[in-house]
Formats: sequence, structure tokens, C-alpha cells
Amino acid sequence: MLSGSMDILVIESPNGILKSSSFHVRFGSLKVIKSKEQIIEIFVNSKKTPITMQLSSSGDAYFIYDESSNNADSKKKKSFFPTSDQLKQLNLNQGNNEICFISRSSISGIQTLKSSIYLWPSSSKIVISDVDGTITRSDVLGQVLPFLGRDWTHDGITDLFTKIKKQGYKLIYLTARAIGQSSMTKKYLDTLIQEENILPPGPLFMSPDGLFTSLKREVIEKKPHLLKIPMLTEIKNLFPEGVEPFYAGFGNRETDAIAYRYLNIPLNYIFLIDTSSKVLRLGESKKGSYKDISEKIDEIFPAIDNSENNEINQ
Ligand code: CA
Repeated sequence: MLSGSMDILVIESPNGILKSSSFHVRFGSLKVIKSKEQIIEIFVNSKKTPITMQLSSSGDAYFIYDESSNNADSKKKKSFFPTSDQLKQLNLNQGNNEICFISRSSISGIQTLKSSIYLWPSSSKIVISDVDGTITRSDVLGQVLPFLGRDWTHDGITDLFTKIKKQGYKLIYLTARAIGQSSMTKKYLDTLIQEENILPPGPLFMSPDGLFTSLKREVIEKKPHLLKIPMLTEIKNLFPEGVEPFYAGFGNRETDAIAYRYLNIPLNYIFLIDTSSKVLRLGESKKGSYKDISEKIDEIFPAIDNSENNEINQ
């Protein structure tokens, strides 16, 4: 199993409570000694934090909670989620932060995994984009050859997403790719340039499963929504009850539309692109392009007042 760590989204509620998406951190190539619990140190923006995780024998990192309140039996609970207090101790800036997970072992030496951790207010309006087939032209090739160049992307996507971000919306990216491909996929998205526009930064959520399970679900069973619905539900649950954080969704398959509808995105804010780069806005009969949506940006993505959270990095 390859190593990788997933991006993390933290939402701050008006009452100051912080909630995060799961910390999926996998040191796949480590020779873990079963009898010894190994500590994973966490650095944020190059500063060491007091928060640690523990590595299991499978190579996955967990937060460990002691559940022995009045019971003498010293029961421990494993979790992918830190508490609000632990999240506060990470000392996050608004927007994008770098998080590093460091494992030090006498056998494998020092190993580091890097991800982004975003802190956003609960007033954020989110636009979701699928990656494979939606930003890239192919659903399948992205899984097998994640380093394909910009010729494999749909024209106009970086310009459109840059405009959407300028209007005040936040972008999140979803891929059914396996967590072991996280660094390759992030590098690919970070360096994707079309006519001088880069893809705006945003958390990238992937499959916590291994490559085979991920590939089988997306390519063989063609049921990527079985991953996307729980992924997006987890994100929605970071927001206070009753808040609908998802504004629009971009995808390339009907199963994407199923996932987006399930998360209460209105039908005509769901956009599906086909292999010839024609985009269908659901509910409309005529297909257009990403460029056509860019031209109607003020109508479809009216500017949101973001003055209360002046963010530098998004
Ligand atoms: Ca796709």
C-alpha cells in the first residue's frame, strides 16, 4: 500500500467550535513493529504542534482517546477525528495551511507526508468539482496515469474556476483516486495552467481505500457516487445544522448528479461535461461550454460579500 495523506477541511461555527473532516494519513511503506505504538508528530506551517497521532500496524494513523471515565478497564478508542480543542491547538490561519505528518523510527528513518488543511467559516459557499473526466478529459486514465499533461484537460476550466473563486465561492475537489496517489494528483492539479490561469486552491478529497478498491468502484462497477455521497455528507456535517453549504457541482457522469442532488444542490446548479467538452446545465436542453458559463458568471455565481473574512490564501 502506498503512502499518502488527504487534505483536511476545518469549519468554524459562529460559537467558535471547530470541526474537521477525517485525518486520513497512511504510511504504507513503513515497517511497523506491532508491539510498539508509534507516534506521528504534526507540524502546521512548519511549526510543531502539541497534537500527535498514533500509527496502527496497518500503517494508518489515528487519534487515540481514553474512554475509561469511571471504568477501571482502560479502553482506548481509535478515531480519524481530532476534538475541537485539539484543532484549536493546531493554530490554523484562515484559509490554506500546510500540515506535515512526521514519523521517526529507528528502522525506516524519518518519513514525512504533506497535505493542505483549510480553515473556513461556516458561512462559506462551496462549489464542488469532480476531477477525473471533469477537469481531465478521461475518467479512467487519470487513475492509471495521474501525471498526464494539460492536453488531457477540458478547455476553459481554470478560467471558469478562477472567476468562481473571485466571486467569493470556495472550491473543493473530489476524486475517486486512491490515497496513495495523493501527492501525484495534488502536484498535477497545482501545476495545471491554461492560458496563465491556475486551478484555484481547494481541499482535494480522495478515496481512503487502496488503489484496487478505488479503481474497481470507479471503473469496473461504475459506482463512484457510493464514495462521493459519504464524502460530501461528512463535509456537510461540519456545518451547523440546517446550513446548506453546497452551491453548485461540476461532474461528468449521471452518478455525480445523483450525489449532488442528494446533497441538496439545486438541479440547475449541477453541470455535467461530456468527453467532447460540451457542458449540460441540468434542466436545460442545449449544451454549452465552460467558456459559456464564464460569460454568465455574474448571473450564475453572483458575487458574495466576503468582507468579514478577509483571506489572503483563500
Ligand atoms: Ca469523474
